[in-house]
Amino acid sequence: MKNNTAEKLSARTGPVQQPDDVLVIGAGASGLTAAIAAAREGARVRVLERNSRPGRKLLLTGNGRCNMTNMDPVLPSAYHSVRQKAEAADLPKQVLAVFGVSDTLRFFEEIGLMTQERDGYVYPRSGQAQSVLNVLLAELEKLHVKMKYQAEVTGLDYDPDEGLWTVRTDGWAYPARQVILACGSRAGLAESEKSRGADAWELVKHLGHTVTEPWPALTAMHCPDPDLKLCEGARTKAGVTLSDAGSGAVAGREEGELQWTASEVSGIPVFQLSRFTYGLSVKKPMLLMVDFYPEYSEEFLKARLMGLFSSCREKESLSRLMEGFVHARLAAFLVKKAGLRDGFRPEKAEETAAVFASLLKRLELTVDGVRDFSRAQICLGGVSPEEVSAVTMESRICPGLYLTGELLDIDGPCGGYNLQWAFSSGMTAGRAAGKKSREKPKTAE
Ligand SMILES: Cc1cc2nc3c(=O)[nH]c(=O)nc-3n(C[C@H](O)[C@H](O)[C@H](O)COP(=O)(O)OP(=O)(O)OC[C@H]3O[C@@H](n4cnc5c(N)ncnc54)[C@H](O)[C@@H]3O)c2cc1C
Repeated sequence: MKNNTAEKLSARTGPVQQPDDVLVIGAGASGLTAAIAAAREGARVRVLERNSRPGRKLLLTGNGRCNMTNMDPVLPSAYHSVRQKAEAADLPKQVLAVFGVSDTLRFFEEIGLMTQERDGYVYPRSGQAQSVLNVLLAELEKLHVKMKYQAEVTGLDYDPDEGLWTVRTDGWAYPARQVILACGSRAGLAESEKSRGADAWELVKHLGHTVTEPWPALTAMHCPDPDLKLCEGARTKAGVTLSDAGSGAVAGREEGELQWTASEVSGIPVFQLSRFTYGLSVKKPMLLMVDFYPEYSEEFLKARLMGLFSSCREKESLSRLMEGFVHARLAAFLVKKAGLRDGFRPEKAEETAAVFASLLKRLELTVDGVRDFSRAQICLGGVSPEEVSAVTMESRICPGLYLTGELLDIDGPCGGYNLQWAFSSGMTAGRAAGKKSREKPKTAE
């Protein structure tokens, strides 16, 4: 039987490897964790990675400091999936119940990584994402996991007669009993990575899985307001509310620091709301309402402005006066939005105060897009969560195939949630695939 397989494969694709017990595709956060878990179960494991190095995205996380996870007690229910709309996806809850935050911290401690926590956000104590990658790679080496780089997987087939998967790269075919697909998403890809091969989603679609169209998230929002260039470089604390431009239905609210460019608003509150922009377009825009003073009422701000205006000279610069309330660049923008000339008119003091108080509480910006995938932290969409087992991460459609991390239609907010999902799903898949590889193959002679 094995010889037949070898002949069939070499005829189709060139040199053939001996079957691996577990073959992991992708050396990112979830793939490296999965490979460790499978090897710890006693499986012979190989990892194929298309880049020349492992963990490229892992090294970018948390601005190079890697926000690994979060101590938030409601973390397991903070995940979503596009197919299930705003409701928490059930899969992460079940997976994290078995390998959750404390298990992840213990796992990293065991392999030699000290961590630190700040306001619930967990980072490596070294302050370097590189340390996280290094301990994972050291553990893989100890476990004799074979790592192959510059090996982009372009094809994946299952032969039910042989009970074997064939994983194809350029010119090579790797037979394997269990395959873990840990290919991540399009988010944050470098130009060089984008230009290569098909998405892993294409591979799984070909195998019969349902893939929800991906959408960039945890990213900035584009505002088609030509005056926004006045705000470029500003940073400000504010509350933001995203709503449907047509119905006015509120999608979500956040508070925190906003960053402004000539055409975009970004910062953590905007990133968190960006998941609600799924399907947004120029024809179907949304509204972002900015409240520069969530802690004060409009009446309070109007009274403050009236107090200020009471001692102002005629024609005094309104932009300059507003600089006491917001960043200087935003002050100029607000004067423009108010439709006023930049000179104080005492006879219009009350009207002016009312306009500015209203803008400080409800600056309305149209949003007609988000940044592209390359500048997003994650992707919404992906393989339907209901098509994998929560106990094993094994595909319900293709036995012996496991799916992990961002490849699935599961997304979490900023703050370590997405890496936690990658670690939890990777560990679950690796353990299950490793255990299963020890079972006698059905087709063995
Ligand atoms: C700038 C940035 C900052 C982020 N910061 C944080 C943070 O601080 N905290 C947090 O929780 N999350 C963060 N994230 C999100 C987090 O990095 C991802 O959710 C996580 O890395 C997903 O893990 P993964 O294993 O699913 O995919 P990845 O880590 O992307 O790994 C997938 C691997 O598969 C390889 N691959 C893909 N296709 C193939 C193929 N066909 N053949 C072979 N190999 C293939 C890729 O090259 C890659 O190495 C950030 C993301 C970005 C872009």
